[in-house]
Amino acid sequence: MTWSITTPDGKTHEAKRWGETAIIYTTSWNCPACNTNGVRLGARTIESRDTYVMPAVCDGCGEPSGEVRLKVDTLFGLEEDEAVLLGRARVYG
Ligand SMILES: [Zn+2]
Repeated sequence: MTWSITTPDGKTHEAKRWGETAIIYTTSWNCPACNTNGVRLGARTIESRDTYVMPAVCDGCGEPSGEVRLKVDTLFGLEEDEAVLLGRARVYG
């Protein structure tokens, strides 16, 4: 899995998640308002076959911080994987 953040200035930076927290840390960007380098994630949506996108807000001051993307290793694509995980009835033929 690969995390990245596209900040409001349009630049993309590496990001990291520590443990199972809902906070993503950026390695080369700090909030211009409060200098925090952690962001909180909103609801994820599927952007492409292997990428989720989530709105991000600063963990320090709550300012919008752009978008976080999570690229995952998927065999069949995220929509198919989620369908399997959610147990949708499927027909193979
Ligand atoms: Zn901030």
